[in-house]
Amino acid sequence: MADETHSRELFAIINDVKEHLTYLEELGVEGIDPSAPVSKWHVDEGVETLEDVWSETRDCTRCPLFEGRTHVVNSEGNRHAKLMFVGEAPGADEDVQARPFVGRAGKLLTQIMESIGFKREDVFIGNVNRCRPPQNRTPTTDEGVTCRPFIIREIEIVRPKVIVVLGNVAMKNLLNTKEGITKLRGKFQDYRGIKVMPTFHPAYLLRDPSKKRETWEDMKTVRDYLNSDAVNQ
Ligand code: URA
Repeated sequence: MADETHSRELFAIINDVKEHLTYLEELGVEGIDPSAPVSKWHVDEGVETLEDVWSETRDCTRCPLFEGRTHVVNSEGNRHAKLMFVGEAPGADEDVQARPFVGRAGKLLTQIMESIGFKREDVFIGNVNRCRPPQNRTPTTDEGVTCRPFIIREIEIVRPKVIVVLGNVAMKNLLNTKEGITKLRGKFQDYRGIKVMPTFHPAYLLRDPSKKRETWEDMKTVRDYLNSDAVNQ
């Protein structure tokens, strides 16, 4: 039985590696630097913890974004959360405070989650990239791909029931899709058995408040799913 479980786990890992390599190939990545491992599998060491992940990001220099950062911004919140939010990358406030979503967009995100009955301390919040890009530019594909394994490992540890992915950049990275946010928002997607709800990034909503209505619709879909028997039996 234990052997069977291990075989299944091994098979899942091989599949993940295959999927990730296909993803990198599609992105045009030409080589992988084996001297810079990011992901580690604790097959014999027991279950991985968030602290294991964060111990590897502390002094990270895997991509050029480290040069401009004040702090690495790890995810935070309830490690048993049913609901997780994933954004793109820290901005100026997050970089200074070493906490995700604490600036203007973060305040709006707090209101968005409160609109469906969640407080900050109930949920888990993070970003695909953990270092602030210069002038808040969009992280490059390479930067996204390099940092991605950390959020993936956090997702595997927390195993929320729903991930709300905020904006096009984070969505494309997490879901490995070429579709845009306007097409996929409001429709549940799947990430390894976890429901993923793409919606607009709060920074975009600050620029175009008319889109808040759609985000509200998306959040009601999330709330209804989290209150359903599928989650609570
Ligand atoms: N925008 C993001 O995507 N993440 C943050 O943490 C802050 C702003």
